Amino acid sequence: MPTTTTRVTLARRPIGEATPDCFSIETAPLGELEDGNVRVAVEYVSVDAGQRTMLRGEGFHRQVGIGETVLAGGVGRVVESRADGWEPGQAVRGGLGVQTLVDLPAAHLERIDEAVAPLPAYLNALGGSTGVTAWIGIRCVAKPKPGDTFVVSAAAGAVGSIAGQIAKRDGARVIGIAGGPAKCGFLTDELGFDAAVDYKHDDVTGRLREIAPDGVNVFFDNVGGPVLDAVLDHLAMRARVVICGAISQYDDMDHVVGPSKYLRLAERQSTMEGFAYFHFPESIPVASAELASWLADGSLRCREEILDGIERYPEALQFMFHGGNTGKLLVKIG
Ligand code: NAP
Repeated sequence: MPTTTTRVTLARRPIGEATPDCFSIETAPLGELEDGNVRVAVEYVSVDAGQRTMLRGEGFHRQVGIGETVLAGGVGRVVESRADGWEPGQAVRGGLGVQTLVDLPAAHLERIDEAVAPLPAYLNALGGSTGVTAWIGIRCVAKPKPGDTFVVSAAAGAVGSIAGQIAKRDGARVIGIAGGPAKCGFLTDELGFDAAVDYKHDDVTGRLREIAPDGVNVFFDNVGGPVLDAVLDHLAMRARVVICGAISQYDDMDHVVGPSKYLRLAERQSTMEGFAYFHFPESIPVASAELASWLADGSLRCREEILDGIERYPEALQFMFHGGNTGKLLVKIG
């Protein structure tokens, strides 16, 4: 039984990009397992855009202190237990952090069932910050109607790729905005989106005018910045803009650039509304059950991009912020 854990800690607060030198990799001894706790061998950790905002020292999300283990949702397996009813081998999900082994109170963990889906799916389609966010964003906030033109940004990423598929399932005409021809091809050829816009090469507003001449009824934005402005410039009347996130702003949260085209909301009698998935706790089990059923019947397509080894975590945020991932970005720990 190993007596040490290897963890990724925050060495310095990033200025701009979270580059690999912002992190350290350390090995530390594990003490005796305490009563009520279990020891978990971490198998995968989730890489989320929002993790960048946890490295600032202040903000909406929980923060990582200098020298502390980087926070991350993860899945793994109990290897030792001093908690009643918890046996070694049990697969679990929780705030495991970027480390190989972690001791946690069993009450902080959720048992997961590998008969329902393999472990990575619990961070992807079934994950709170991924599939569940997409489901809640669509079903509780954006609520696209049949025939609506629905646009999603960061469309080939974890949340966006699932949000677009749910909007399509709900009868909308779905357009994804993503960086590069390979991602745009993934959206139309593999996920069944109706069209894709390559924001790195196309004039986004111009392309939207061509492919959606009547305007955008619902915009599900994960990106902010120029992409948000470009879509605001082509809203239909009574459109709904849903702010799920704004990854283009996370590297410099002290100087967030707001939309310069926000008067389009007044001109088109439209609304803009933000949400976080945990604002809808009652919907989380409903979302999880429905997402699991779509996974089981093969109607929800999900891709994972996996960086193999804990030593890859320090490059993970930079990889994501440069658009390296298609689908959900994970780091395989053990
Ligand atoms: P993701 O979409 O899997 O990855 C992020 C993608 O964003 C990248 O692959 C990249 O794709 C794109 N991107 C990066 N920088 C960009 C820029 N400057 N301009 C345009 N696109 C850029 O990440 P995720 O973890 O699923 O997060 C997606 C969004 O959901 C984030 O805004 C996140 O904060 C939000 N979120 C919200 C909630 C909530 O409860 N509201 C929960 C979880 C996540 P390209 O190659 O296409 O550029």
